[in-house]
Amino acid sequence: MSEVAPLLINCAIHGHNRVSAVVCGHMVESAVPVGFVENNDDPDNLQAWCEKCEAFFVCEDDKTKAFLSFNRMALVCVSCYQALKSRHTLPPDGRLPSTRGAG
Ligand SMILES: [Zn+2]
Ligand SMILES: [Zn+2]
Repeated sequence: MSEVAPLLINCAIHGHNRVSAVVCGHMVESAVPVGFVENNDDPDNLQAWCEKCEAFFVCEDDKTKAFLSFNRMALVCVSCYQALKSRHTLPPDGRLPSTRGAG
């Protein structure tokens, strides 16, 4: 009896009644990769934040008020979550991909 229906949101890109996921505001706002640290990979409750949030969280050792205001969590649909994941996941060698060469 503990099953909880996933929270549904309307996504401007992917349509209505999409399963939601939680990310940090930095991922939504940044066009360059900021890292992708997944905290929960339950498909009905996906949660992730960037490297800076991870460092802040480790430092605070809890989801403190300071952490939450830094994190600025945002709700996105799972398809947006996957897109953010591929955009922000850093390569294993830690180097940021070059953005030069276009144009
Ligand atoms: Zn962040
Ligand atoms: Zn979406």
